[in-house]
Amino acid sequence: MAVKDLWVFSEKTSLQAELLAGARTLAEATGGGVAAIVVGDETSAKAALAQGADKVFWLGEKADKLVEDFVPTIAGLVQSHKPCALLIGASKRGKAVAGRLGAALDTTVITDVKKFFVEGDVIQASHLIFGGGAVRVEKSATETMIATFGLGIFEPLAADPSRQGEIIQVPFIEPKTRWTLRERKPKPPSTVNLAAAKKVVCPGRGLQKKEDLDMIFELAGLLEAEVGATRPLCEGLDWLPRERYIGVSGAFIKPDLYLGIGVSGQAQHTVGITESRVVVAINKDEEAPLFAQADYGIVGDLYAIVPELIKALKARK
Ligand SMILES: Cc1cc2nc3c(=O)[nH]c(=O)nc-3n(C[C@H](O)[C@H](O)[C@H](O)COP(=O)(O)OP(=O)(O)OC[C@H]3O[C@@H](n4cnc5c(N)ncnc54)[C@H](O)[C@@H]3O)c2cc1C
Repeated sequence: MAVKDLWVFSEKTSLQAELLAGARTLAEATGGGVAAIVVGDETSAKAALAQGADKVFWLGEKADKLVEDFVPTIAGLVQSHKPCALLIGASKRGKAVAGRLGAALDTTVITDVKKFFVEGDVIQASHLIFGGGAVRVEKSATETMIATFGLGIFEPLAADPSRQGEIIQVPFIEPKTRWTLRERKPKPPSTVNLAAAKKVVCPGRGLQKKEDLDMIFELAGLLEAEVGATRPLCEGLDWLPRERYIGVSGAFIKPDLYLGIGVSGQAQHTVGITESRVVVAINKDEEAPLFAQADYGIVGDLYAIVPELIKALKARK
C-alpha cells in the first residue's frame, strides 16, 4: 500500500490540532497530503487549514445533529477518496464515530494508538492491549486504516493563519436512524490540561479521605504543578473529576516531574507516566511497584511526609 493522504477528524479543536500535527509529520516524510474533516462553521474549517491541513472537507454546522449523525457522510467520503489513514480523536463522540465507521466500512479500528509510523511503505500503529499490560503493533488489512488517538500523543503545531488550502463543502447524508437529543446539561468548565503540564502531583488510594486532598492541592500549588490522580479517586470515590486521572483509560502525561503520593503503581496507571522525565514516589510500602519506576523514592507515611514537604517548600519561598 503506497502511503498517500492522511485524514484527521475530531470535533475537539485542540485534539484536531494535535492530530493534524501528527499527520503532517508523517505526510511530510512520505509525500502525502493532509486533510481534515470538519463539523462546524466556516471559521472552524479555516482554523483546520491554519493548524496544518492542506484540504478541508467541510460538513457544515452541527445544528440539531449529533456528531455521530455525520458517520454516513464521513463513510461516503472515505469510500470515494480512500485515504490511507483516518486519525480520529478519542473523545467520547470520536470513539462513537470510529466504531460506527468501522461497522459502516467493514473494517477494524485500532484504538488508543500511542505511536504511528511508516515502515517501508506501510503505516503501522502501536497501541496498548490487555488494559495496558502489553503493546501490539498493527498494520491495516484494509485500504484505509482507522485509528483513534487520545490527547498528548502529538505536539500541536503553532497555528499559521496564512496557510492556504482548499475547503470542500460536503452535503450531509441522512443516517438511517438518528439519536434523539432529549436534554443538554451544562458541565462545569474544566481548566485541567494534564497532557501539557510540566509537573504533576498524583495522589492515590493511599489518601484516607477527600479532605486530605487539600494538602495535595497545597503541595501542588507550591510546586506550581497540576494535580492528577489514580482512577479510584475519580471513578468510584468520585473525589476528583475524571479528566484528572492518568493511565490507560485516562490521560497520558509527559511532565518533567511526576510525584506519586500513595500510589501503588499498577500497570494501568503507570503506562500513562512512562514519558515523565523524573518520577518520584512516596509510599509506606517499600514493595510498591511504583518504586521500580521511580528515580527517587521515599518510603514512609504520606501523612508525615507531605506536611514536611509543604513546610520545606514554604520556607524556601
Ligand atoms: C481495565 C482497567 C483499566 C484501568 N485503568 C486505569 C487507569 O487508567 N488509571 C489508573 O490509575 N488506574 C486504572 N485502573 C485501576 C488500576 O488497576 C489500579 O487499581 C489503580 O491504579 C490503583 O490506584 P492506587 O494506586 O491509587 O490504589 P492502590 O493500588 O490501592 O494503592 C494505594 C497505595 O497507597 C499506599 N498507601 C496507603 N496508605 C499510605 C500512607 N499513609 N502513606 C503512604 N502510602 C500509603 C499503599 O501502600 C498502596 O501502595 C484500571 C483497571 C482496569 C481493570
